[in-house]
Amino acid sequence: QTTGRLSKALQLTLAVIKPDAIAHPLIAEAIHQTILDNNFVIVRCKDLVWKRQDSERFYAEHSGRFFYQRLVEFMSSGPMRAYILAREDAIRHWRDQMGPTKVFQARYTSPACIRARFGLTDTRNTTHGSDSPESAQREISFFFPDFNVDQWLKKEEPLFR
Ligand code: ADP
Ligand code: MG
Repeated sequence: QTTGRLSKALQLTLAVIKPDAIAHPLIAEAIHQTILDNNFVIVRCKDLVWKRQDSERFYAEHSGRFFYQRLVEFMSSGPMRAYILAREDAIRHWRDQMGPTKVFQARYTSPACIRARFGLTDTRNTTHGSDSPESAQREISFFFPDFNVDQWLKKEEPLFR
């Protein structure tokens, strides 16, 4: 099964630089540099703009939350950059780099994280990262429908040994 193959030894995750950060080229560049500084391999990268429906579909799990409309609107408000990132324990490492969801909390608990450094509000918080192997699989397919995780692992895994 595909999600099972996203083992901790070599894991893929989906990372996104959200519209608030892409709007500021120096911030987008600093986030990109953080990816490189933390030994992630950039497997795929693309710029895109969501329609409102893409945003609603991607964040369906949050429909009904008080911030849902705000979130959906924001995420379809301008260009963003999506990455497939690879490394050992990639999902946890990328979430550690992003830091807590809420920017003002992040500034107190982990001032060096991306969201503390560049986040504007709890919604405009610069970045997205998958939170489990299952969501990584779903989100990679959502952003990169032609990307085949199993095929990539078969071909590239030996290079990571
Ligand atoms: P994360 O992005 O850290 O996985 P969630 O999955 O809980 O966080 O939420 C998805 C996104 O919804 C967040 O990144 C943020 O943009 C927005 N969001 C979450 N919680 C709040 C909140 N309490 N107030 C405003 N926006 C929020
Ligand atoms: Mg989440």
